[in-house]
Amino acid sequence: MSTPAEKFTSRDTDPDISAIDSIFQAQQRTALEWRRSTAAERISRIKRLLALVQDNSERIYQAAYADFRKPETEVDISEIMPVVAEARKNIKKLKRWMKPMRVRPTATTLGTKAWVQHEPRGVSLIISPWNYPLNLSFMPLVSALGAGCPAIIKPSEMTPNMSALMRELIESAFDPSEVAVIEGDVRASQALLSLPFDHIFFTGSPAVGKIVMKAAAEHLTSVTLELGGKSPVIVDQTANVKRAAESIAWGKFCNNGQTCIAPDYLYVHESVHDEFVAAAAKQINTFYGDNPEASADYCRIVNERHHDRIHGLMQDAVNQGARLAHGGQSNDDERFIAPTLLTNVPKDARIMQEEIFGPLLPILTYRSLDDVLEHINANEKPLALYLFTKDKGTMQRVMSTTSAGSTGINTNMVQYLHGNLPFGGVNNSGIGNAHGHWGFKAFSHERSVVQDKFSMTKIFNPPYTDFVKKMVKLTVNHAA
Ligand code: NAD
Repeated sequence: MSTPAEKFTSRDTDPDISAIDSIFQAQQRTALEWRRSTAAERISRIKRLLALVQDNSERIYQAAYADFRKPETEVDISEIMPVVAEARKNIKKLKRWMKPMRVRPTATTLGTKAWVQHEPRGVSLIISPWNYPLNLSFMPLVSALGAGCPAIIKPSEMTPNMSALMRELIESAFDPSEVAVIEGDVRASQALLSLPFDHIFFTGSPAVGKIVMKAAAEHLTSVTLELGGKSPVIVDQTANVKRAAESIAWGKFCNNGQTCIAPDYLYVHESVHDEFVAAAAKQINTFYGDNPEASADYCRIVNERHHDRIHGLMQDAVNQGARLAHGGQSNDDERFIAPTLLTNVPKDARIMQEEIFGPLLPILTYRSLDDVLEHINANEKPLALYLFTKDKGTMQRVMSTTSAGSTGINTNMVQYLHGNLPFGGVNNSGIGNAHGHWGFKAFSHERSVVQDKFSMTKIFNPPYTDFVKKMVKLTVNHAA
């Protein structure tokens, strides 16, 4: 890196707008240099990031605990492991991904050589949410570095310990002209969003996703939007109920339900409903004991505002006739709500209208799969849709009649950890994909290149003689 190492600072809740501008300008110079960067250079940057994560795991555990009492093992599984895996995958595959992709000539372009070249999009902005703060900042950063893009990260103000740690770590290993972390709330986001970034990678709610996309439109900046919404689960009458209950209880209550692809609500076939509720309640006890408040493995709701919001959703559902089939206890001082199963939930209760993002699981029953599919299709396309069944026909039917960012069949959440799958939503749940090769592509522009060798296209030139007309007609008839 030949850009002079200038040092910039920004204050956490009071963003220094002029620092943002100078960092941005420095990154613009870096972006021009990094257009020429080799795979080895990009890999060395990813290795720097990987070492930061691996060498500082104790501090990462401490920050996650301080923010919302997240247990160490969940930090390992959901914060550290995905970043390490993403970095290693890039280190292994980057050379291959960067290779220009040759394509064959078509009838009209015979005599040319053509290929697709991946070029870095340029200066990138990564805005991340609080629920997996390290993962959702550093995974896209790996992709940005792999694609040859400098980046500014704007982590969430709601997990201040992790945001401060990420900033400290990044400042210890990268010059701000390469990678910078700007802490702060919506004002920092707004200051950043006013700049003509080459790409914005945003992870957060659909509501803020719309704000980001509007701001990006001002500069025609490309976007990847990793959003959220309500992710439904269907458990049919052929499902292995015990295994379904175990899988769903894990997916729903790890990170206290604060996961974008956590099961939001369930449709359970009426013939297995009671069996399912009993199995899920038993599973919750197995995971967190009779008193989940005392469990070291059950983290907390991130802040008071979200605690009150989730508590309000539970109260509203109960007031409208829902039954607390399990859990329901809470402690405001501790931002604790027990893992809770709700049955008899009316569809117009607020809990069925907004993304829950907390430890409440509404369980609806159904008799006809048609009704379930109709309800799912009447709502926004979900980030994830899960299906528990042994019936192949049901699998095919659900897959061919619905749309979702991703689907787990007889499992949930693990699609996120599968490094060979793209991760993203569709429309309201997101635009574009992340992870592995898809992450590399998100931060790359696919540039078409055609090189003339002995092409015949000049035979189409004017004047349009009878011969030219004949040749054009012939080509039109054989165009492919
Ligand atoms: P959020 O949209 O409130 O905030 C995300 C980021 O945007 C934060 O850094 C925040 O400071 C910033 N922000 C907030 N308001 C803004 C505004 N008006 N203008 C510009 N920036 C603004 O989301 P959150 O509460 O942090 O996270 C929860 C949401 O994120 C849920 O909807 C969840 O489903 C979604 N999510 C999606 C994924 C995914 O990969 N698809 C992953 C995690 C979370």
